[in-house]
Amino acid sequence: MRFAGIVPDCGFCRLISTPPRFTPTFRRVLNMHPPPPMPVSVLSKFCNLLARVKCLAISILIAGSITGPSLAVEDAGPPASIQWETHPALKHFAVAGQELPSELSLVRTRGELPEAAGITVHGVHKGVFLVSGDPIAVTELAKKGCAVIPLKDLPAVSRFASRQWQWVDTPDPDIAAMVAQVEWAGISSKIQWLVDFGTRYSLELNHPAVADSICGVFEGYGLVPIKSSFEFRGWTLWNVEATQIGTVYPDSFFIICGHFDSLSERPRLSAPGADDNGTGVAAVFTAAEILTQHDFEYSIRYICFSGEEQGLVGSQAYASWAAQNNIGIVGVLNFDMMGYWELGVEKDLEIETNYASQWLAAAIVNAANLYVGAPYELHVDDGAWWGDHASFWDEGFAAVNHEEAWDWGDPDFNPYYHTTNDLLVHIDPDFTVGNIQIGVAALATLAGFVPDASGVDDLVTPPVLAKLLSAYPNPFNRGVNFTVAGVPDRDRITVLIYGADGRRVGAVPVALQDGRGTAFWDATDGAALEIASGIYFLKLEGLPSAAPVKIVCVK
Ligand SMILES: [Zn+2]
Repeated sequence: MRFAGIVPDCGFCRLISTPPRFTPTFRRVLNMHPPPPMPVSVLSKFCNLLARVKCLAISILIAGSITGPSLAVEDAGPPASIQWETHPALKHFAVAGQELPSELSLVRTRGELPEAAGITVHGVHKGVFLVSGDPIAVTELAKKGCAVIPLKDLPAVSRFASRQWQWVDTPDPDIAAMVAQVEWAGISSKIQWLVDFGTRYSLELNHPAVADSICGVFEGYGLVPIKSSFEFRGWTLWNVEATQIGTVYPDSFFIICGHFDSLSERPRLSAPGADDNGTGVAAVFTAAEILTQHDFEYSIRYICFSGEEQGLVGSQAYASWAAQNNIGIVGVLNFDMMGYWELGVEKDLEIETNYASQWLAAAIVNAANLYVGAPYELHVDDGAWWGDHASFWDEGFAAVNHEEAWDWGDPDFNPYYHTTNDLLVHIDPDFTVGNIQIGVAALATLAGFVPDASGVDDLVTPPVLAKLLSAYPNPFNRGVNFTVAGVPDRDRITVLIYGADGRRVGAVPVALQDGRGTAFWDATDGAALEIASGIYFLKLEGLPSAAPVKIVCVK
């Protein structure tokens, strides 16, 4: 019943009738998606040597074994002429009858368009400028705090136009429990962790190190992260992704994504990007943290894009690669800026879809009604171009965006957008929690939750400790909560904490009732000293056969 919404009647996405089954352990190390080829530049090699070596090693290793089309966005060649008259992104601009050049961009900024030579303005609507001009000049606008979206031609066909969503009427108690795990303490620590990089500007030297740190977070959730590079105006930039393999349809993917890069008036100095887009990355991390504790029929891919602020270049590189390689992307849930709320304005999430992705938006709305109850507003508009979802639209994939404000003229638009003041203090806890709950509920519903007890995997493999023990928040800073469940034969158990070097750093007793219990660890060692940043492993005393749970301490 839950999965009746997926009606894959197009040849692109052939669902497997007799699917292979994977053990949970195998599933976690297996990544069905061959990563894109990536020429690794001297600069990024250097930066990565300074940062963590592990992710780079994985990336180069995999890059070397793959052949295929280049991911470079730089060498696309001049665009063919585009039928601008019918382009939905232009409906607000009075350009009918105008002779428009082949390269157009939308530029979103607060106030006046900054000075930039070689830029022609063709129209203005609510703080959005329709411009054409030299690509370098357009990049200059991005450096000055403007959001730039290059407009592309529409795809000839939608890959999933004929899908339908069959409404689900009864909530699943397990999915409801997952949604209940979304809470502010974990989300706020994730956003602050991102803010603490100082800047996440894609064209700053710390960019490879930020990408590596995101790899570390995914590793903490038991996933195998993959970095893929793309070239942008001489820079090597990185997207980070991790995949949780589906038990029935491993080659079909639901994606949850958000860009991790940030921007401000002085992006090299400071670009905290708490709302734009710490909130979206927190949604991706939170979904990974919760959903990796369970099995799903479809694969779930968690992606953090870079280069969004330079014109969606990271997601464009990814989506065009996915289209060329027939990657089975079923639907994409993008989260971009959904934590700011202005007093006196309705506190609702804007769910933005194009016409072809309405079945996906219907599933999200269904899940929101069933599990969350937080207010939302649905917009069906082929011209809602502001975010990485549009890169998937460009390639004919189904994608939906989640955003706090629909229009640039709206009073609830974040006044700290693209400033050095986009800080956690301006994020509304209830609003953000509700919006991320909608994402978790939708993803769990769409991906086809497999009830924990039903998998034959559990009978043939040792118990995965993640199902008995979970840690929250993760990554953590000042402390971490442990939840133990499913140990019915005891009234007390001890969580043992080990450092990456195998040394035990802590032991926390947990009182159990009906096999369940919780405890807090203040992140200090036996001598009451604060532990250092790094990866730690949890085990339950007396259950040696279970695989350890990985947690990450970030100072
Ligand atoms: Zn953004």
